[in-house]
Amino acid sequence: MCGIVGISGIENAAEQAYLAMYALQHRGQEAAGIVAFDGTTSRSHKGRGLVSEVFNAETLSNLRGNVAVGHVRYSTAGGNDLANVQPLTARFSRGDLALAHNGNLTNHLDLRARLVEDGAIIRSSADSEALVHLIAKSRHYGVDAQVDDALSHLEGAFSVVMSVGSTVYAACDPRGFRPLVLGRKGAGHVVASETCALDILGAERVRYLEPGEVLRIQDGRVERLRSLRPAQPHAPCIFELVYFARPDSHIWGVSVDRARRAFGRRLAREHPVDADAVIAVPDSANSAALGYSEESGIPFELGLLRNHYVGRTFIQPQQQDRDFGARMKYNPVQEVVDGKRVVIVDDSLVRGTTSRSLVRMLRAVGAAEVHFRIGSPPVRWPCFYGIDMPTRRELIGADLEISEIEAKLGVDSLGYLSLEGMTEAVAEAGPYCTACFSGEYPAPLVDVEKGLASPEGPRRC
Ligand code: AMP
Repeated sequence: MCGIVGISGIENAAEQAYLAMYALQHRGQEAAGIVAFDGTTSRSHKGRGLVSEVFNAETLSNLRGNVAVGHVRYSTAGGNDLANVQPLTARFSRGDLALAHNGNLTNHLDLRARLVEDGAIIRSSADSEALVHLIAKSRHYGVDAQVDDALSHLEGAFSVVMSVGSTVYAACDPRGFRPLVLGRKGAGHVVASETCALDILGAERVRYLEPGEVLRIQDGRVERLRSLRPAQPHAPCIFELVYFARPDSHIWGVSVDRARRAFGRRLAREHPVDADAVIAVPDSANSAALGYSEESGIPFELGLLRNHYVGRTFIQPQQQDRDFGARMKYNPVQEVVDGKRVVIVDDSLVRGTTSRSLVRMLRAVGAAEVHFRIGSPPVRWPCFYGIDMPTRRELIGADLEISEIEAKLGVDSLGYLSLEGMTEAVAEAGPYCTACFSGEYPAPLVDVEKGLASPEGPRRC
């Protein structure tokens, strides 16, 4: 998963992109990059690590101009090689191009094989590079038509922000898997993955991009190019609302906080329990836990604290025990938990490893009962559209019965939100892609069908 931003017509665009990427950091912590264009020259700076580690005042001041494209990376397709760090850049007949992509293409190995056969020299293993080649080799007349033509060959999930010279393009795949929002600041424009990026810039929200939409932004004007292909059934990714997006963001017109609270309220109705305290696995489950507490009347307590400063650290192997990873990140508040029957709410259960550690930690500080409640259905299937999920074999919810998962986690009870409960709670922006829960994949898995990719899930890095 990744976060993307495009800035058009705003002074010191790179600085604006930096701030937006700072707000989008939760969408990718592996690498960051900005490309800026000053009317004649484009300059880029990229690196591995957090936005605050990759950039400093000097690197930012070198990125001159009022057009910029930025990217924070959480690698799914392609490795963590520097060649894969976006924005991808290319110099082609129509000017300097910079591209930032969020999502996963499901036909990129097929496209890549055909491009290589045609003589293309591929520099990265990133799925997004195919788009750069398709634009450069498109026989259509003019950049707008070339961009539109290239996008029409892509299958799967893509929200894209791109600059060609001083023109910024923003596009969304025909099913609208990943969010993208347009904002305005003074005479200029911002396009970003989530509204929290507009907020930090003081930009006003104009609208969310529609599935299949391609926008061209230049000199303060926003034009809609021909929409991509005939309309497809919309399939925004519901996991963005469950876990990925920030709760202070709005995506597709839905408040992420409200969505998670609604999941929590539904969960309380579907899986009630007699208990003394509701606690969240911070921070992603805070809103869902508040919803559970509001609906059930059981008080919400701060029973688990999360250390926000966990980064790369050097630990002697002998210091590590089975819960060490989770203990680096979370610690229970004994005074809240001791002697209490607690409901612990998480947004999702993936491998179950963190959850199992958390349950042991709660018992160790005296929890009388531990009831686990999950603000989404069991994750059973891999994601081919850009969420970094383990393979099916590693997913605790893939094949096990509830009672077996209860035993593995060591809980007194476990309750998942139902698929219907989840989709009904946020029906206003549906229907959604629920593939990781339901196994129903809305966009064809071309590479898998052609035997080029594993049905276990996209190549993981
Ligand atoms: P586990 O107990 O190991 O299944 O971990 C579940 C936790 O991982 C939940 O608290 C989620 O907030 C978080 N989570 C869910 N999906 C992802 C993902 N794709 N990448 C990283 N963390 C995730």
